[in-house]
Amino acid sequence: MVLADTEVNRVFGVFGLTPMITSANDSKHRVDSLHYRGRALDYRIFDVPADVLPTIHRILRWNLSPEFDVILEDDHLHIEYDSPEADHGSSMDTA
Ligand SMILES: [Zn+2]
Repeated sequence: MVLADTEVNRVFGVFGLTPMITSANDSKHRVDSLHYRGRALDYRIFDVPADVLPTIHRILRWNLSPEFDVILEDDHLHIEYDSPEADHGSSMDTA
């Protein structure tokens, strides 16, 4: 998830914002959630201006590779790395 986090930091920075991770693999999620495998991150969005949020969402979806799902939830931005290869011991899920 390092790659995604770097890009999130860059994109938020463009708008003068600092992204805050609210959840990695430490809170409540669906039983099958990728959070439990260290492959999903949540960023808080309450301090992101409403007119900027859709733009950030769009840029991240463009810039991150297709294996990343970028989902705008009610109260957070959820990003997960959803590649079949990651199930076979990829080093990417150690972050
Ligand atoms: Zn999440």
